Amino acid sequence: MSKPVKKIKPVISTRLAFLIMFTLFYWGFHFVFHRTNLQLSQVVFDLVAGVFTGAVIHVVIAKAFGPLLFGRGFCGWVCWNASVFDILPVRRPKKKLPEKYYVLKYVTLALALGIPLLLIVLGFNFQGPGAQFKWLVIENALIYAIGLVLAFVLGDRRAFCKYLCPAGALMTVASPKSVLKVEKNHLKCNKCRKCEEVCPMDVPVLSYITANQRVSHPECILCAECVKHCPKNCLTVGIGCKSNTTPEFGRSY
Ligand code: SF4
Ligand code: SF4
Ligand code: SF4
Repeated sequence: MSKPVKKIKPVISTRLAFLIMFTLFYWGFHFVFHRTNLQLSQVVFDLVAGVFTGAVIHVVIAKAFGPLLFGRGFCGWVCWNASVFDILPVRRPKKKLPEKYYVLKYVTLALALGIPLLLIVLGFNFQGPGAQFKWLVIENALIYAIGLVLAFVLGDRRAFCKYLCPAGALMTVASPKSVLKVEKNHLKCNKCRKCEEVCPMDVPVLSYITANQRVSHPECILCAECVKHCPKNCLTVGIGCKSNTTPEFGRSY
């Protein structure tokens, strides 16, 4: 009798594959080939110069208004910084900082907009491709470096996203109103809390589910790890405009 075939677990998840694919696209196509900076800082340089392409379009779609539709899906699936954070070999137990530290990222948002304004006042020009490229390399090197240090010190791959990312801070304005949200699929939740255990952003998923609420937490990055790991298949990513769910049908109404 032939032995049952052992299922081989994929070494890379679909989400990680997306993250890496989009990172190669951004770094290859946008950053190195076109030498365009898509960071928030460039939006300030562009708007002051009356330019409405590149960074402005990217930030409006992915980070300002897009989150009304797909929440912080950018953070979960396509961010070039997150692709590095999510593959870090972090072994330490996660150290969760009190929620008051989340406010730090609004300070970095103010700095990310304020520093370019100050540079413009001082007469610096970051419009040309060479200058944009230099700025984007310096800014991203800083983000990767701080993100790496925080990840290893706190044992948390997404520490930078939670506490310091200015783009993440901007997205939290619209993302709680997102049309796409994690929600309850049916009533069989056994309160095992696996969904909270696997959540990279420490979202209290179970509190929403037990209250028949769709998950509208500003830190939810729609990565769907909770959906994937729920042993009872209780969760889904649903479409809807209201915040509560109908457990009988698993649809938002
Ligand atoms: S919070 Fe910032 S660094 Fe983290 S995934 Fe979102 S945009 Fe990227
Ligand atoms: S993982 Fe699923 S069954 Fe467990 S608490 Fe979360 S929703 Fe309930
Ligand atoms: S609540 Fe679920 S979808 Fe949202 S960040 Fe946590 S694991 Fe990802």
